[in-house]
Amino acid sequence: MCRHLAYLGPPIPLSHLLFDPPHALSHQSWSPTDMRGGGTVNADGFGVGWYPAPAAPAPAATAPGGPPSGGPPSGGPPSGGPVPVLYRRDTPLWSDATLPRLAASVTAGAVLAAVRSATVGMPVAEPAAAPFGDGPWLFSHNGVVAGWPGSVAKLAGALPVTDLLTLPAPTDSALLWLLVRDRLRAGAAPAEAVRDTVAEVERAAPGSRLNLLLTDGVSLVATTAGHALSVFSGAGSVLVSSEPLDDDPGWRAVPDRTLLTATAGDVALTTLGVL
Ligand code: GLN
Repeated sequence: MCRHLAYLGPPIPLSHLLFDPPHALSHQSWSPTDMRGGGTVNADGFGVGWYPAPAAPAPAATAPGGPPSGGPPSGGPPSGGPVPVLYRRDTPLWSDATLPRLAASVTAGAVLAAVRSATVGMPVAEPAAAPFGDGPWLFSHNGVVAGWPGSVAKLAGALPVTDLLTLPAPTDSALLWLLVRDRLRAGAAPAEAVRDTVAEVERAAPGSRLNLLLTDGVSLVATTAGHALSVFSGAGSVLVSSEPLDDDPGWRAVPDRTLLTATAGDVALTTLGVL
């Protein structure tokens, strides 16, 4: 079953999450230690999403005989927060020749990354690899919707056809993303959108495994419902990960059936209960 992580805090190189620690995401891709839902490796693709620091304004310069040039670029990010950069592939993370140097040279203060072990019957394709994105949002799912695809007929039926036409891939995770996105677009708070989606899917497909992860680059929401998750926080940063990246005693296992909400300075756990 997939592995995912999210980081909020002072900017760090992506490699501090993906490659450098002994049990970094790349290590978890070929040697995970807690695949409680089955599967052995996470080789069916990967994705990294990060929020670039805003570009420094160009220095004002005066061309000879002309008006000042420079100043703020036209356009800019749409309202609603910074838009993340996405790098995804349908190949194993460990086989990507570009990523190690890219990850060592890119720093970010907000990151969501995942490696995928495709559920049997679901395609191995780049659009099926998390994170899924929309505006400022990044989303990932570790788990499975039980009884796919029959069990989701009710879920998909609740979505407008125009939404369904934007399904990134014919997978349970992509449909979960649409369900969360629909609630966010309707104005739900992130924690509410995630919690209500878990409740809706558990009603329609009991026995599902629904570890969800959502961030807008400022706060994050994660659930544990059937899979592992650990959290490391301190010094104005928070890192949640399916498996701890190292043996630092500061890692805490998040109990099953938890809704975790966090900013860089604060982590809160509430119970998901039986929804
Ligand atoms: N079911 C999802 C997929 O195939 C996620 C699988 C997982 O967690 N391993 O993409």
